[in-house]
Amino acid sequence: MYRLKKISALIPAAGSGTRMGIGLKKQYLILNGKEILNWTLENLLGQDCIDEAVIIVPIEDVAEVQGKVKRWLDEAGILTPFKVIAGGETRQASVYKGLQALEGQTNYVLVHDGVRPFVPRQQISSFLDCLMDDETIDGVIAGIQVTDTLKRVDSEQLILETLDRARVWAVQTPQIFSHDLLRTAHEQAISNNLSATDDAALLEILGKRTKIIKSDAENIKITKPFDLIVAEAIIKTHNDKQEKL
Ligand code: C5P
Repeated sequence: MYRLKKISALIPAAGSGTRMGIGLKKQYLILNGKEILNWTLENLLGQDCIDEAVIIVPIEDVAEVQGKVKRWLDEAGILTPFKVIAGGETRQASVYKGLQALEGQTNYVLVHDGVRPFVPRQQISSFLDCLMDDETIDGVIAGIQVTDTLKRVDSEQLILETLDRARVWAVQTPQIFSHDLLRTAHEQAISNNLSATDDAALLEILGKRTKIIKSDAENIKITKPFDLIVAEAIIKTHNDKQEKL
């Protein structure tokens, strides 16, 4: 419970990892001796506010991941109840399956990609504070301001316009919404045959107000081989800092 509200986490990790180009699912790649999904769960569930977690993986991996997550959480001393379920064809379908797997009443649902191992410390409680303290806001999501100049292009990559980068953010997870609203957003998307690459987009369609909160550039999504090099560097920087303490 956080401020007397029940918080459930959905962790979509049912991707096939085709962009990694190595025929291995990226959520299980080893980073400094630990699988990426293990890093993600430790950093996310190690933040005390989460009451239950649903981890969504490819159907063929459910039994094995169930055993592994139990071991990882035991070793890390994390007591959060969890279940592992099978995902769907798309990220959106996987998150919806996670919503259906939630048991009983819950107040807020947090969605966090299984392949974002470095969710910043204290982030969940500060996001929840922001959402709970402002009744005009329907959701809060992590993001960072872009530093590159951004162009919108046509199908032949010819430039149509330059975007005002002061108003453009690169969006990450975690994303937190009230449970009822997220469920409605997913159900409406299914009825209207709409798809989106994140949950905030489904709330946008409903005209809801979602706020982006500045996150950390370290909260990377492991997508391509280069991201693994960055991830190793992030871990090394943290280890070096620990040693100096
Ligand atoms: O494909 P993308 O990089 O946006 O995936 C973000 C997260 O969604 C990853 O953790 C991935 O495993 C997950 N995913 C899923 N089900 C799918 C596709 C992606 O849970 N069918």
